[in-house]
Amino acid sequence: MSRPDTAVALVTGASKGIGAAIAQALAADGWAVAVNYRSDEEGAQRTVEAIEAGGGKAVALHGDVANGAPAELFRQAEEQLGAPVLALVNNAGVTADGLAIQMDDDAWDRVLQTNLTAAFRMTRGAMRPMIKARYGRVINVASVVGPRANAGQANYAAAKAGLIGLTKTVSHEVARRGITVNAVAPGFIETDMTKDLLTDVVKAIPARRAGQPEEVAAAVRFLASDDAAYVTGTTLFVDGGMSA
Ligand code: NAP
Repeated sequence: MSRPDTAVALVTGASKGIGAAIAQALAADGWAVAVNYRSDEEGAQRTVEAIEAGGGKAVALHGDVANGAPAELFRQAEEQLGAPVLALVNNAGVTADGLAIQMDDDAWDRVLQTNLTAAFRMTRGAMRPMIKARYGRVINVASVVGPRANAGQANYAAAKAGLIGLTKTVSHEVARRGITVNAVAPGFIETDMTKDLLTDVVKAIPARRAGQPEEVAAAVRFLASDDAAYVTGTTLFVDGGMSA
């Protein structure tokens, strides 16, 4: 089954970085895009303007996925873009690094809440319209951290490994309904999240360079496309070879 003519994608955390690039890549592929943000309204507006400048359709939607009600985000996306959300990209993510021995409960809870629990709730909220349409795409932005270790990120690694487990299991639950559920696992990508990290990290990347948000977005664009209709439950690593 191919994508309906009027189809809406919702990208969480699309005010900057990887999420902004994903929103633009999906818009270039014909999706109307709901650009979710938490605090950076100007960034979300810039994403919307870039999409509109390219002839696409988008709206900025405020909402803290770690606290808010996903139902409200889906409702607003449908109301403002005129069709139900048939592609959900769970991209919003945070870090709160520290060695496990020193990590307090707040740092653990914040990262798990945003990077894993919110993705579960958003996925649950997305399912009914997708089942009704017999078409859907859920793409979770995981990380190379989780499948592999990274000292100082026990919370982040647990959340991202959990996200991959969530991806696999939900993919089985909905595969026969025309819905695919996949993950992308970026390596070291140049965004605000990584701007304070040592450039030494690059030496450990086989490609010997950081990735760009657009390179992750291209993978998401493929997984959201009709070409990827038979790809589900998988994790596509976009990491310059780090995980190989
Ligand atoms: P970023 O530049 O720091 O952007 C993070 C985005 O997430 C922002 O748009 C932020 O919104 C949003 N966000 C955070 N908490 C939110 C919440 N509770 N509700 C709604 N939005 C929220 O990060 P990035 O590097 O683009 O990362 C995007 C995703 O890729 C994350 O899941 C991250 O874990 C993953 N990733 C990144 C890398 C990397 O090297 N950069 C590697 C692997 C995986 P506001 O700015 O509006 O607050």
